[in-house]
Amino acid sequence: MISRQPILEVEGLSTSFGRGRHVLPAVRDVSFSLRQGEVLGLVGESGSGKSVTLRSILGLSRRYGQVSGSVRWKGRDLCTMSERALRPIRGNEIAMIFQEPMTSLNPLLTVGRQLTETLEVHTDLTRAGRRARAIEMLDHVGIPAAASRLEDYPHQFSGGMRQRVMIAIALAAEPQLLLADEPTTALDVTIQAQILDLILRLSDEMNMAVILVTHDLGVVAQTCESVAVMYAGRIVEQGSVREVLSAPRHRYTTGLMQSVPQDVPPRTPLFSVPGAPPSLLNLPQGCAYAARCDAVTDRCIGTRPPLEEIAPGRRVACYHPEPLCQRYSA
Ligand code: ADP
Ligand code: MG
Repeated sequence: MISRQPILEVEGLSTSFGRGRHVLPAVRDVSFSLRQGEVLGLVGESGSGKSVTLRSILGLSRRYGQVSGSVRWKGRDLCTMSERALRPIRGNEIAMIFQEPMTSLNPLLTVGRQLTETLEVHTDLTRAGRRARAIEMLDHVGIPAAASRLEDYPHQFSGGMRQRVMIAIALAAEPQLLLADEPTTALDVTIQAQILDLILRLSDEMNMAVILVTHDLGVVAQTCESVAVMYAGRIVEQGSVREVLSAPRHRYTTGLMQSVPQDVPPRTPLFSVPGAPPSLLNLPQGCAYAARCDAVTDRCIGTRPPLEEIAPGRRVACYHPEPLCQRYSA
Protein backbone atom coordinates (compact mmCIF):
# COMPACT_ATOMS: atom_id res chain seq x y z
CA MET A 1 0.00 0.00 0.00
CA ILE A 2 1.50 3.28 -1.10
CA SER A 3 1.74 5.88 1.63
CA ARG A 4 0.01 9.09 0.60
CA GLN A 5 1.41 11.10 3.48
CA PRO A 6 3.24 14.24 2.41
CA ILE A 7 7.00 13.80 2.43
CA LEU A 8 7.70 17.37 1.39
CA GLU A 9 5.84 20.35 2.80
CA VAL A 10 6.89 23.76 1.51
CA GLU A 11 5.37 26.57 3.54
CA GLY A 12 5.68 30.29 2.83
CA LEU A 13 8.94 29.90 0.95
CA SER A 14 10.37 33.27 -0.12
CA THR A 15 13.75 34.01 -1.65
CA SER A 16 15.09 37.42 -2.54
CA PHE A 17 18.41 38.60 -3.91
CA GLY A 18 20.25 41.84 -3.18
CA ARG A 19 19.76 44.31 -0.38
CA GLY A 20 18.43 47.76 0.34
CA ARG A 21 16.64 49.49 -2.53
CA HIS A 22 17.55 46.78 -5.00
CA VAL A 23 15.93 43.77 -3.46
CA LEU A 24 14.70 41.34 -6.11
CA PRO A 25 11.89 39.16 -4.74
CA ALA A 26 12.43 36.08 -6.93
CA VAL A 27 10.08 33.75 -5.01
CA ARG A 28 7.25 34.91 -2.74
CA ASP A 29 5.27 32.90 -0.26
CA VAL A 30 5.27 29.62 -2.15
CA SER A 31 3.48 26.73 -0.44
CA PHE A 32 2.69 23.23 -1.61
CA SER A 33 3.09 19.69 -0.46
CA LEU A 34 4.10 16.52 -2.19
CA ARG A 35 3.28 12.92 -1.35
CA GLN A 36 5.46 9.90 -2.03
CA GLY A 37 5.39 9.06 -5.71
CA GLU A 38 3.55 12.25 -6.65
CA VAL A 39 4.63 14.09 -9.80
CA LEU A 40 4.07 17.85 -9.56
CA GLY A 41 4.50 20.11 -12.57
CA LEU A 42 5.82 23.63 -11.98
CA VAL A 43 5.12 25.90 -14.93
CA GLY A 44 5.47 29.57 -15.78
CA GLU A 45 7.29 31.90 -18.11
CA SER A 46 11.02 32.39 -17.93
CA GLY A 47 11.95 34.39 -14.84
CA SER A 48 8.86 33.42 -12.83
CA GLY A 49 10.93 31.81 -10.06
CA LYS A 50 10.79 28.10 -10.89
CA SER A 51 14.52 27.38 -10.70
CA VAL A 52 14.96 29.53 -7.59
CA THR A 53 12.12 27.56 -5.94
CA LEU A 54 13.88 24.25 -6.62
CA ARG A 55 17.25 25.57 -5.51
CA SER A 56 15.71 27.01 -2.35
CA ILE A 57 14.18 23.63 -1.49
CA LEU A 58 17.63 22.09 -1.65
CA GLY A 59 19.20 24.87 0.42
CA LEU A 60 21.25 26.18 -2.51
CA SER A 61 19.72 29.68 -2.68
CA ARG A 62 20.85 30.80 0.76
CA ARG A 63 24.41 31.09 -0.56
CA TYR A 64 23.34 34.03 -2.73
CA GLY A 65 20.06 35.26 -1.32
CA GLN A 66 17.79 35.61 1.69
CA VAL A 67 15.49 32.66 2.18
CA SER A 68 12.54 32.45 4.57
CA GLY A 69 9.72 30.00 5.17
CA SER A 70 10.06 26.31 5.76
CA VAL A 71 10.77 23.20 3.71
CA ARG A 72 9.83 20.17 5.75
CA TRP A 73 11.35 16.98 4.42
CA LYS A 74 10.17 13.90 6.28
CA GLY A 75 9.37 16.18 9.16
CA ARG A 76 12.70 18.08 9.32
CA ASP A 77 13.10 21.69 8.16
CA LEU A 78 15.75 21.86 5.44
CA CYS A 79 15.78 25.67 5.66
CA THR A 80 17.24 25.70 9.15
CA MET A 81 19.49 22.68 8.69
CA SER A 82 23.28 23.18 8.57
CA GLU A 83 25.18 22.58 5.34
CA ARG A 84 26.74 19.60 7.02
CA ALA A 85 23.38 18.07 7.86
CA LEU A 86 22.09 18.78 4.35
CA ARG A 87 24.98 17.13 2.58
CA PRO A 88 23.80 13.52 2.96
CA ILE A 89 20.30 14.51 1.86
CA ARG A 90 21.38 16.31 -1.34
CA GLY A 91 22.03 13.98 -4.22
CA ASN A 92 20.87 11.01 -2.18
CA GLU A 93 17.40 11.40 -0.72
CA ILE A 94 16.76 14.44 -2.93
CA ALA A 95 18.45 14.62 -6.31
CA MET A 96 18.34 17.53 -8.70
CA ILE A 97 18.69 17.68 -12.44
CA PHE A 98 19.88 21.21 -13.17
CA GLN A 99 18.98 23.31 -16.16
CA GLU A 100 22.72 23.76 -16.72
CA PRO A 101 24.36 20.31 -16.71
CA MET A 102 27.96 21.39 -16.13
CA THR A 103 27.14 22.70 -12.66
CA SER A 104 26.48 19.27 -11.23
CA LEU A 105 29.02 17.03 -12.95
CA ASN A 106 32.51 16.70 -11.55
CA PRO A 107 34.85 17.70 -14.42
CA LEU A 108 37.73 15.76 -12.89
CA LEU A 109 36.09 12.35 -12.72
CA THR A 110 35.11 10.07 -15.56
CA VAL A 111 31.41 9.62 -16.12
CA GLY A 112 31.74 5.91 -15.31
CA ARG A 113 33.38 6.71 -11.98
CA GLN A 114 30.66 9.23 -11.07
CA LEU A 115 27.96 6.70 -11.82
CA THR A 116 29.60 3.76 -10.07
CA GLU A 117 30.38 5.87 -6.99
CA THR A 118 26.73 6.77 -6.72
CA LEU A 119 25.77 3.11 -7.15
CA GLU A 120 28.29 2.06 -4.53
CA VAL A 121 26.57 4.24 -1.96
CA HIS A 122 23.05 3.21 -2.90
CA THR A 123 23.13 -0.43 -3.92
CA ASP A 124 24.62 -3.74 -2.82
CA LEU A 125 25.88 -4.44 -6.31
CA THR A 126 29.32 -5.94 -6.83
CA ARG A 127 31.94 -4.02 -8.79
CA ALA A 128 30.95 -5.86 -11.99
CA GLY A 129 27.29 -5.34 -11.21
CA ARG A 130 27.84 -1.60 -10.75
CA ARG A 131 29.63 -1.38 -14.07
CA ALA A 132 26.80 -3.22 -15.79
CA ARG A 133 24.20 -0.99 -14.12
CA ALA A 134 26.15 2.15 -15.10
CA ILE A 135 26.14 1.05 -18.73
CA GLU A 136 22.46 0.23 -18.48
CA MET A 137 21.68 3.70 -17.02
CA LEU A 138 23.63 5.46 -19.79
CA ASP A 139 21.88 3.31 -22.32
CA HIS A 140 18.47 4.17 -20.80
CA VAL A 141 19.08 7.89 -21.23
CA GLY A 142 20.01 7.35 -24.86
CA ILE A 143 23.80 7.51 -24.88
CA PRO A 144 25.05 5.54 -27.88
CA ALA A 145 27.75 2.91 -27.32
CA ALA A 146 27.38 3.43 -23.58
CA ALA A 147 30.00 0.84 -22.61
CA SER A 148 32.68 2.70 -24.54
CA ARG A 149 31.88 6.04 -22.85
CA LEU A 150 32.49 5.05 -19.21
CA GLU A 151 36.11 6.22 -19.29
CA ASP A 152 35.21 9.61 -20.81
CA TYR A 153 35.18 12.88 -18.85
CA PRO A 154 32.19 15.26 -18.89
CA HIS A 155 33.89 17.70 -21.30
CA GLN A 156 34.12 14.91 -23.88
CA PHE A 157 30.32 14.85 -24.15
CA SER A 158 28.24 17.33 -26.12
CA GLY A 159 25.76 19.54 -24.20
CA GLY A 160 22.79 17.23 -24.85
CA MET A 161 24.82 14.14 -23.91
CA ARG A 162 26.00 15.80 -20.68
CA GLN A 163 22.38 16.48 -19.83
CA ARG A 164 21.66 12.77 -20.21
CA VAL A 165 24.68 11.80 -18.13
CA MET A 166 23.48 14.09 -15.37
CA ILE A 167 20.02 12.53 -15.49
CA ALA A 168 21.54 9.04 -15.31
CA ILE A 169 23.59 10.00 -12.24
CA ALA A 170 20.61 11.67 -10.52
CA LEU A 171 18.47 8.58 -11.08
CA ALA A 172 21.20 6.08 -10.14
CA ALA A 173 20.97 7.37 -6.57
CA GLU A 174 17.34 6.19 -6.48
CA PRO A 175 16.29 9.39 -4.72
CA GLN A 176 12.95 9.69 -2.94
CA LEU A 177 12.48 13.11 -4.47
CA LEU A 178 13.72 14.25 -7.85
CA LEU A 179 13.86 17.97 -8.62
CA ALA A 180 13.96 18.12 -12.40
CA ASP A 181 14.57 21.59 -13.80
CA GLU A 182 13.53 21.53 -17.46
CA PRO A 183 15.38 18.23 -17.74
CA THR A 184 14.70 17.67 -21.41
CA THR A 185 14.55 21.17 -22.88
CA ALA A 186 17.85 20.84 -24.74
CA LEU A 187 17.08 17.39 -26.12
CA ASP A 188 15.30 16.24 -29.24
CA VAL A 189 11.71 15.03 -29.10
CA THR A 190 12.43 11.29 -29.13
CA ILE A 191 15.01 11.46 -26.36
CA GLN A 192 12.78 13.86 -24.43
CA ALA A 193 9.97 11.30 -24.49
CA GLN A 194 12.34 8.47 -23.52
CA ILE A 195 13.71 10.40 -20.56
CA LEU A 196 10.29 11.46 -19.32
CA ASP A 197 9.21 7.81 -19.59
CA LEU A 198 12.27 6.74 -17.62
CA ILE A 199 11.59 9.33 -14.90
CA LEU A 200 7.95 8.23 -14.67
CA ARG A 201 8.82 4.55 -14.62
CA LEU A 202 11.29 5.09 -11.79
CA SER A 203 8.76 7.25 -10.01
CA ASP A 204 6.32 4.32 -10.19
CA GLU A 205 8.81 1.59 -9.34
CA MET A 206 10.58 3.40 -6.52
CA ASN A 207 7.69 5.56 -5.38
CA MET A 208 9.88 8.56 -6.17
CA ALA A 209 8.23 11.98 -5.92
CA VAL A 210 9.09 14.42 -8.69
CA ILE A 211 8.88 18.16 -9.14
CA LEU A 212 9.07 18.68 -12.87
CA VAL A 213 9.78 22.20 -14.07
CA THR A 214 8.74 22.52 -17.66
CA HIS A 215 7.70 25.07 -20.25
CA ASP A 216 5.46 22.55 -21.89
CA LEU A 217 1.88 22.15 -20.66
CA GLY A 218 1.57 19.15 -22.98
CA VAL A 219 4.27 17.44 -20.89
CA VAL A 220 2.41 18.39 -17.70
CA ALA A 221 -0.80 16.91 -19.07
CA GLN A 222 0.94 13.64 -19.88
CA THR A 223 3.18 13.22 -16.87
CA CYS A 224 1.97 15.11 -13.82
CA GLU A 225 -0.67 14.51 -11.19
CA SER A 226 -0.73 18.05 -9.89
CA VAL A 227 0.41 21.40 -11.18
CA ALA A 228 1.42 24.78 -9.79
CA VAL A 229 1.48 27.79 -12.09
CA MET A 230 3.98 30.50 -11.15
CA TYR A 231 3.84 34.13 -12.16
CA ALA A 232 6.28 36.83 -11.05
CA GLY A 233 7.55 34.71 -8.16
CA ARG A 234 4.20 33.54 -6.81
CA ILE A 235 1.95 30.57 -7.33
CA VAL A 236 -1.20 31.95 -8.97
CA GLU A 237 -3.04 28.67 -9.52
CA GLN A 238 -2.61 25.12 -8.32
CA GLY A 239 -4.49 21.87 -8.15
CA SER A 240 -4.76 18.49 -9.82
CA VAL A 241 -3.74 18.49 -13.47
CA ARG A 242 -7.15 17.18 -14.40
CA GLU A 243 -8.95 20.08 -12.74
CA VAL A 244 -6.55 22.85 -13.65
CA LEU A 245 -6.23 21.94 -17.30
CA SER A 246 -9.91 21.17 -17.81
CA ALA A 247 -11.21 24.19 -15.90
CA PRO A 248 -8.50 26.81 -15.39
CA ARG A 249 -9.52 29.74 -13.19
CA HIS A 250 -6.64 32.16 -13.64
CA ARG A 251 -6.35 33.97 -16.94
CA TYR A 252 -2.62 33.47 -16.93
CA THR A 253 -3.16 29.70 -16.92
CA THR A 254 -5.58 30.02 -19.82
CA GLY A 255 -3.05 32.18 -21.62
CA LEU A 256 -0.39 29.51 -21.20
CA MET A 257 -2.81 26.86 -22.42
CA GLN A 258 -3.75 28.85 -25.47
CA SER A 259 -0.11 29.38 -26.30
CA VAL A 260 0.43 25.62 -26.59
CA PRO A 261 0.30 25.10 -30.33
CA GLN A 262 -2.06 22.28 -31.22
CA ASP A 263 -0.81 21.27 -34.63
CA VAL A 264 2.87 22.03 -34.70
CA PRO A 265 5.72 19.77 -33.61
CA PRO A 266 6.57 19.75 -29.90
CA ARG A 267 9.41 22.01 -28.81
CA THR A 268 8.25 24.90 -30.94
CA PRO A 269 8.83 27.94 -28.70
CA LEU A 270 5.83 28.44 -26.45
CA PHE A 271 4.57 31.19 -24.24
CA SER A 272 3.26 33.81 -26.52
CA VAL A 273 0.93 35.21 -23.87
CA PRO A 274 0.55 38.84 -24.99
CA GLY A 275 2.54 41.37 -23.00
CA ALA A 276 5.40 40.71 -20.61
CA PRO A 277 5.68 40.03 -16.87
CA PRO A 278 6.42 43.07 -14.67
CA SER A 279 9.94 43.74 -13.46
CA LEU A 280 10.48 42.03 -10.12
CA LEU A 281 12.28 45.19 -8.99
CA ASN A 282 9.16 47.24 -9.59
CA LEU A 283 6.11 45.08 -8.91
CA PRO A 284 2.69 46.71 -8.96
CA GLN A 285 0.84 46.88 -5.65
CA GLY A 286 -2.12 44.93 -7.04
CA CYS A 287 -2.22 41.76 -9.11
CA ALA A 288 1.06 41.28 -11.01
CA TYR A 289 -0.93 39.97 -13.98
CA ALA A 290 -3.37 42.92 -14.10
CA ALA A 291 -1.67 44.70 -16.99
CA ARG A 292 -2.06 41.62 -19.20
CA CYS A 293 -5.48 40.47 -18.01
CA ASP A 294 -8.70 40.99 -19.94
CA ALA A 295 -10.83 40.69 -16.78
CA VAL A 296 -9.00 43.39 -14.83
CA THR A 297 -10.99 45.67 -12.51
CA ASP A 298 -10.02 48.53 -10.16
CA ARG A 299 -9.89 46.08 -7.29
CA CYS A 300 -7.18 44.02 -9.05
CA ILE A 301 -5.08 47.14 -9.51
CA GLY A 302 -5.59 48.31 -5.93
CA THR A 303 -4.78 45.14 -4.00
CA ARG A 304 -3.13 41.86 -4.81
CA PRO A 305 -5.55 38.94 -4.77
CA PRO A 306 -4.42 36.33 -2.22
CA LEU A 307 -4.05 32.68 -3.18
CA GLU A 308 -7.29 31.18 -1.88
CA GLU A 309 -8.57 27.66 -1.65
CA ILE A 310 -11.67 27.27 -3.82
CA ALA A 311 -11.94 23.49 -3.34
CA PRO A 312 -9.77 20.96 -1.47
CA GLY A 313 -6.26 21.18 -2.93
CA ARG A 314 -7.39 23.73 -5.53
CA ARG A 315 -6.13 27.30 -5.14
CA VAL A 316 -6.29 30.42 -7.24
CA ALA A 317 -5.11 34.00 -6.76
CA CYS A 318 -7.72 35.98 -8.66
CA TYR A 319 -10.69 38.21 -7.82
CA HIS A 320 -12.54 36.88 -10.87
CA PRO A 321 -11.96 33.15 -10.73
CA GLU A 322 -15.03 32.12 -12.69
CA PRO A 323 -14.40 28.85 -14.52
CA LEU A 324 -12.89 29.62 -17.89
CA CYS A 325 -13.73 27.66 -20.97
CA GLN A 326 -11.34 24.93 -21.88
CA ARG A 327 -9.19 25.65 -24.88
CA TYR A 328 -6.71 22.88 -24.53
CA SER A 329 -7.30 19.17 -24.58
CA ALA A 330 -4.78 16.92 -22.91
P1 ADP B 1 12.74 30.58 -14.00
O1 ADP B 1 11.28 30.54 -13.69
O2 ADP B 1 12.99 30.97 -15.42
O3 ADP B 1 13.47 29.35 -13.60
P2 ADP B 1 14.45 31.77 -12.03
O4 ADP B 1 13.93 31.07 -10.83
O5 ADP B 1 15.73 31.29 -12.59
O6 ADP B 1 13.32 31.81 -13.14
O7 ADP B 1 14.67 33.32 -11.70
C1 ADP B 1 13.71 34.12 -11.04
C2 ADP B 1 14.30 35.53 -10.90
O8 ADP B 1 15.39 35.51 -9.98
C3 ADP B 1 14.87 36.08 -12.20
O9 ADP B 1 14.56 37.46 -12.26
C4 ADP B 1 16.36 35.87 -12.04
O10 ADP B 1 17.08 36.83 -12.78
C5 ADP B 1 16.55 36.06 -10.55
N1 ADP B 1 17.71 35.32 -10.02
C6 ADP B 1 17.89 33.99 -10.04
N2 ADP B 1 19.04 33.62 -9.43
C7 ADP B 1 19.62 34.79 -9.01
C8 ADP B 1 20.81 35.12 -8.29
N3 ADP B 1 21.66 34.17 -7.88
N4 ADP B 1 21.05 36.43 -8.02
C9 ADP B 1 20.20 37.40 -8.43
N5 ADP B 1 19.05 37.15 -9.08
C10 ADP B 1 18.75 35.88 -9.38
MG1 MG C 1 14.71 28.15 -14.72
